[in-house]
Formats: sequence, structure tokens, C-alpha cells
Amino acid sequence: TPGIRPLVAGNWKMNGVSSSLDELSRIGQGFMHGLDAQTDALICVPATLLSRACERIKDTPVKVGGQDCHASETGAHTGDISAEMLRDAGAKFVIVGHSERRSDHGETNANVKAKTEAAWRAGLQAVLCIGETHEQRVNGEALRVLSEQLTGSVPSSSTAQGLIIAYEPVWAIGTGLTPTVRDVEQAHAHIRQELTRLVGEEAAKIRILYGGSVKPSNARDLLGVANVDGALVGGASLKAADFLAVAEAY
Ligand code: PEP
Repeated sequence: TPGIRPLVAGNWKMNGVSSSLDELSRIGQGFMHGLDAQTDALICVPATLLSRACERIKDTPVKVGGQDCHASETGAHTGDISAEMLRDAGAKFVIVGHSERRSDHGETNANVKAKTEAAWRAGLQAVLCIGETHEQRVNGEALRVLSEQLTGSVPSSSTAQGLIIAYEPVWAIGTGLTPTVRDVEQAHAHIRQELTRLVGEEAAKIRILYGGSVKPSNARDLLGVANVDGALVGGASLKAADFLAVAEAY
């Protein structure tokens, strides 16, 4: 989108131990040698690796983020992590509303909205994920579902600085399946239109990423679509060579 700098973001999910930091170093190095001219980069690591990940790539253009946060700042929520804790560990971003959180933990649009606001409270940028299931796509409900998720989870005070949207069709995540370029184009145009309804002209500056089985071989097609301002990459972000090849599509 004119005037928007793309972002290629990785989501390591529940993968990564100390030895994985070497892969992260390779990603950081890759962006230091040219790629940073084309795109911003982010890797969302497991919370256990956050502070070490930040230390590892602090001299590179690659940012580090968390994968989820609790809506509250502190309190009796065993096992949860607040946005303030992520920030304290060095994160600059946090993913909210990933479909695996919605399905594994029953997160609702209202929860996702609260987490988005928690991210801002802590000074983090939120990467807010939306997307239809296979059944919804087959029933012709995809765009309606996207509208419902956006209406329920995007705060009206959203700015391009605080909010990034990731369109991730649930059926495309980790499956090797991807929507057609036409379907991606239609979904992203719809998201841009809905964002304009919800937040006004700021919507023109908000990044809308595509996610779901992005890999080096399809990145150029998917990232070339109108209103696709970058990618959220799961599996292919675990290997530096793949992640860098995806970023090279820009
Ligand atoms: C994701 O979970 O955000 C994702 C896009 O995963 P994958 O690239 O593995 O489909």
C-alpha cells in the first residue's frame, strides 16, 4: 500500500529453546545486510526466550515480540503474562487474537480488544489476528466473519502506530493451503474498508499482513497483492533461510 512500510513478522509459536537463538542471530544478520531497506522485521518468540532474544539481536534491525498477553497489568492469573511483563523483557510487539489462542483458550473478540488495549497501555504494538474457518469460507461467510471480528476487537482509538492487522484464514495456518490471490485481494480490501468504518482515515496507514502457509515459494505472489502490507509467518520463520527468503519477496 502506498506510504506503508511492509512488515515481515515471524511467529515461533511453542517452538524454541536456547539453541534456537542461533537461528535468530542468522535472521538478525540477514536483515543487517540489505533486507532492512525493503521491510521491517519482527520475530515473536516464546516468553521464555524474550529477554535473551532481545539481547541476541539488539544490534540488528529485527524487533522481538511476544505471542499473547493478559489484559490485566498484574494479579492472580497463574501462568499468564501481562503486556507490561513482555515490555519489561524487551518486547516491542505482541500478537493478540491468534486463531490458536481463540481455539485453544476460547478467546473472544472482547478479550482480544482488551488485550489490544493492554498492549498499548504497556507501550507495545499489537498484531491483531483475524480469519475465517474453512466452514465459514465454504458457506460464503468469510467477509461477514472478518467484519464481526474487526467490529468486536478493534478499539475505535486505533492508530497505525499501535495496531497491525493480520488476516490469517484458519484453514491456511500450518496446512500448506493458501487462498487464491483473488481471495486475498478481496479479503484485504474488505478489511481496509471495515477499518475505515471503524477508525476513520487512519485506516489508510494501518498495516494489514497476510498469514497462513507463507513460504519462500509463494511469498512473491501473496505479498504482491493490493493491501497486503507484509506477512505473518509461522512454520517458515523457524529457519532463518526460509524467513529471509520470504522477506526477500519485497
Ligand atoms: C501463524 O500461525 O501465524 C501462521 C501463519 O502459521 P504458518 O505460517 O505455519 O501457516
